[in-house]
Amino acid sequence: MKDFMSKTLWIIANWKSNKTIAEALEWVSKVGPNLHFRENIKVVVCPEFDAIVEVKKAVQVGGWKLEVGAQDLSPFRAGAYTGEEAAQNLSQLISLSILGHSERRQNFGETDEMVAKKVDQARQNNIIPLVCVQGKETLVPEGCKLIAYEPVFAIGTGNPDTPENANQVAKFLRKQHGHDAEILYGGSVNHENAKAFVQQESISGLLIGKSSLDPEEFLQIVNICIESNV
Ligand code: PEP
Repeated sequence: MKDFMSKTLWIIANWKSNKTIAEALEWVSKVGPNLHFRENIKVVVCPEFDAIVEVKKAVQVGGWKLEVGAQDLSPFRAGAYTGEEAAQNLSQLISLSILGHSERRQNFGETDEMVAKKVDQARQNNIIPLVCVQGKETLVPEGCKLIAYEPVFAIGTGNPDTPENANQVAKFLRKQHGHDAEILYGGSVNHENAKAFVQQESISGLLIGKSSLDPEEFLQIVNICIESNV
């Protein structure tokens, strides 16, 4: 049983730097038609920037219950910022953006200050910021209500946190950021362990990297989550 009225079950695919446009469209054509409408479920795919337009078009044409997100966005408004993807422009295509992922912090020197600026840009442009925290101590900009707990040791390692510990962290984060905050778990989720995470009382969904790349595996996880969460 959830310890709160869970508004939404979030299942979010983070493809990272994977998939050509053709591969992205193939994935979408397999997953999209198999997602069935459920009021309280949100399935979001976050492709590389180059595939976002085509994925969005395919989803719109198919009329599928799939939302499109980004893996990052610029801390600056649209303008003279070479190489950046401004939230203002992305907002035509996406409803959510992952922000502060540990891979960006480790490989691109992303700081809490930059994350805060990105959150600000997202909010100004009606994009939901999904802020990744690596533990209880990670700073989350004020007012963020969608947070993913992603311990670094669990990312892409095949070594997930325990569902019980993830739940404890989620509980802590909800105390810190408000009872209405929704906390997702991410880190080596697959079809074998997804159920144990979504059944935890304080966990509102999953952020999935490697296991989201294969459409069959991803659909299996979605179906398990739907069955386990009702
Ligand atoms: C991630 O990087 O957000 C993630 C959850 O990766 P993986 O599922 O591959 O551990």
